[in-house]
Amino acid sequence: MSNPCNQELTDQINAKIELLEQKINDLEHKINYVVYQDSLTTLLNHRAICTKIKDLLRAKKKNEALYVAMFDIDDFKQINDRYGHQTGDQVIIQIAKILKDVTKDVGYAGRYGGDEFIIVFSVEDALNANLLISEVLNRVYKLTIKTDLKVTLSGGVTKVRTENSREIIQKVDQLLYESKRVGKNKVSYDLSDS
Ligand code: GH3
Ligand code: MG
Repeated sequence: MSNPCNQELTDQINAKIELLEQKINDLEHKINYVVYQDSLTTLLNHRAICTKIKDLLRAKKKNEALYVAMFDIDDFKQINDRYGHQTGDQVIIQIAKILKDVTKDVGYAGRYGGDEFIIVFSVEDALNANLLISEVLNRVYKLTIKTDLKVTLSGGVTKVRTENSREIIQKVDQLLYESKRVGKNKVSYDLSDS
């Protein structure tokens, strides 16, 4: 027959262990939040989106079509100067929401830097990639943070054809630069298969 005192002690110890496990879980959650999330937008931060791209490249199947896009807010300095930094922050938050939403079932969104964002997503083909990007641009254009404030993005999108994440980021950066160079409010594409 088991000793009731021993049983009581065991129950107490188990309850304590459970509590500790719960606390460790919560702590892990908080650490992940600080290390991987951008605090303003809750998107993945620079480090996390780069890691995510690397992970996806490693796990990518041969016939899977993966796309990466980089966006930068046009004339964001002027938006800050004219409407104030709080409004500027709102612009960043709203764009982040759109990017999170359009990628929710197909990929990930990250804040790459101040007014720069990266998304990585997997859709069937170039047409669907195009549709996703168009949705981003349309929804950003429809933002009404201030009545007379029109927000536009420039961007670059590439189909992933290499396992080198640095090359991919370089590519979308070049495409974004090209969009800025030719007048902004534009996305440059490199969606060909080869
Ligand atoms: P371009 O069209 O060439 O991109 O011009 P730009 O004015 O957007 O130029 P740039 O990208 O160099 O400026 C980015 C600005 O974004 C500068 C910085 O003050 C502002 N910024 C960066 N992070 C934040 C932020 O978290 N909140 C706000 N409000 N502004 C930020
Ligand atoms: Mg900018």
